[in-house]
Amino acid sequence: MAKTAYIGIGSNLGDKLENCLEAIELIRGIPEGVLLARSNFYRTEPVGVKGQDWYVNGVISLKTVISAQDLLQCLQGIEERMGRVRRSKWGPRTIDLDILLFGQDIINDEDLEIPHPFMHLRRFVLVPMVQLAPDLVHPVLGKTMFQLLEDSSHKGQTVMEMGGR
Ligand code: ATP
Ligand code: CA
Ligand code: CA
Repeated sequence: MAKTAYIGIGSNLGDKLENCLEAIELIRGIPEGVLLARSNFYRTEPVGVKGQDWYVNGVISLKTVISAQDLLQCLQGIEERMGRVRRSKWGPRTIDLDILLFGQDIINDEDLEIPHPFMHLRRFVLVPMVQLAPDLVHPVLGKTMFQLLEDSSHKGQTVMEMGGR
């Protein structure tokens, strides 16, 4: 059965916007996947590790019949192809592709957690998610993307719209 996956895209090395756009083109090439929608891109402050450059972040939705595990493999293949070098956790990267949601599935595998465990805490995820699907309910927390964004409003991470392409 086809499911709608939401994929978070981020880059903070090189031509960040171009990296995000290239990743989306490669995601379009995933067999048995149909790109449904793309959010705007946002310029965002890094979280976790201080002293690194700002990020470009966005979210896309993809309709697909492949499994979440197969999708993860495809996304990791794209990260590798785009020359992502795994240096440190949360460190600089040319591209980062995270599966945020996969239909209403809840997955707790060793190498794959869905919903993404931090999505509800990250404004750089919630702002573009609300643009695409404000009424979509988080399958674990039972709140809509809009409600989750409201809940995070005190966290103050700067997320600035970049203007589309
Ligand atoms: P964060 O997960 O906090 O955003 P990160 O994106 O920097 O951190 P990575 O180094 O890109 O973390 O990924 C580490 C591992 O996370 C991957 O090897 C992958 O197996 C695992 N992982 C678990 N759940 C997911 C998910 N929903 N989407 C993508 N990777 C995931
Ligand atoms: Ca990530
Ligand atoms: Ca990742």
